[in-house]
Amino acid sequence: MELRNRRVVVVGLGVSGRAAARFLASRGASLILTDIRTEISTNDLPEAELHLGCEDPAWLKDVELMVVSPGVPPSSKLLQHARAVGIPVAGELELASRFIECPVVAVTGTNGKSTVTSLIGAMGRCAGLKTFVGGNLGLPLTEAIDRDFELAVVEVSSYQLETVQRFKPRIALHLNLTADHLDRYRDLEEYGRAKARIFENQDAADWAILNRDDPLVWRLHGQVRSRVVSFGITKPPGGTDAIWHDNGLRFAVNGVEGMIPLDGFRLPGRFNRANAMAAAGAALILNITPDVIERTLAEFGGLPHRLQFVREKNGVVFLDDSKATNVGAVVEALLAVGPSVILIAGGVDKGGSYAPLREPLRQKVRLALLYGAARQVMQAQLAGAAPIECVETLTEAVAKAAAVAQPGDTVLLSPACASFDQFSSYAQRGQVFQEIVRGL
Ligand code: ADP
Repeated sequence: MELRNRRVVVVGLGVSGRAAARFLASRGASLILTDIRTEISTNDLPEAELHLGCEDPAWLKDVELMVVSPGVPPSSKLLQHARAVGIPVAGELELASRFIECPVVAVTGTNGKSTVTSLIGAMGRCAGLKTFVGGNLGLPLTEAIDRDFELAVVEVSSYQLETVQRFKPRIALHLNLTADHLDRYRDLEEYGRAKARIFENQDAADWAILNRDDPLVWRLHGQVRSRVVSFGITKPPGGTDAIWHDNGLRFAVNGVEGMIPLDGFRLPGRFNRANAMAAAGAALILNITPDVIERTLAEFGGLPHRLQFVREKNGVVFLDDSKATNVGAVVEALLAVGPSVILIAGGVDKGGSYAPLREPLRQKVRLALLYGAARQVMQAQLAGAAPIECVETLTEAVAKAAAVAQPGDTVLLSPACASFDQFSSYAQRGQVFQEIVRGL
């Protein structure tokens, strides 16, 4: 792809848009940069025509390529105009992937992407491979260009997958699909279709790693052109190109069979065992040895705000699962902890149903404290499943939880919602929770 003197517009100046802009400038493109926000830092932006605060298709005159950020919705005026007049549209991931020479492992799914991406990255590094880890998590893939990596492991979101054209990962993982982002997608089907595009350009020389226990993921196994490795709790009938759980991780992948002990693996919950299986599958395809995989799994301490232990006080354990921004993640968190939970949830509603929480609430939750913008919607859908109280803020919720908790209880922040009503991100929400808890 020749970029020199090509007129390129970058829409959205977040982390990936900025990285794309710097890369495009380094290749001599003539740049237009635009963002709907007006207050953005221009420090690390290259020289360019800059438009902030509005969208005007007039800027697109003579533009040959539009690089669009994942946060820009398909309804954006610029995007619609580009599509209408035939300007090629690519995301930063698509752009970067055209210039990456090493094998790419791409991880998608509703939950567990960051955990699995980090695990595979750690396995690559432990095996001595010069490994890039990034994508939707941390550094954009553009940052890996021309840096002699031997392996690139990228987390990819459905938003990024909406704008792929030729993106062709050597190994693509799809971990699970539950309701999320229904403020962007019409329904689960449409969200699922965006995710399935991770396999779109793969061929028989590539690999797909699919969750056998998730029907919405597993139904893809007959549709992908790549070779499938499946993971799931029980042994599948054929047992080849599969990973399952049997006092550790049993595998039969690419003609090699064996077992990876999980004795040292510290992450809680069955979902994390599934994450370990998925990551191990990718590593085995990359010919990383079982002992390196075992060692990496044992050394991995987990990422912050994912069912993270904060503190124990008077026999009460406090867990920060602020990254649980959808119902599926909270269901798994409740399965993993217990037996008596004070759940703190709430924030910005994303348009899905909270009904899947009813049964886990009934089984484990002694009190649900709902706060923030979504509290009333949640209360209406969860009424009767467990005792519920609504409060305004996270601070009030923690104070209430601490006041009623008994020894043996777990106080779990697992919000099932986005954070943006009261916080700048899930990470800030988690940090605030941890500070309040440490101060108790
Ligand atoms: P993502 O990058 O897909 O958001 P993370 O690894 O950051 O995934 O985890 C997000 C949330 O989902 C956390 O609350 C985490 O504990 C939970 N989680 C992680 N893996 C899974 C899984 N396989 N199934 C359900 N929930 C999961």
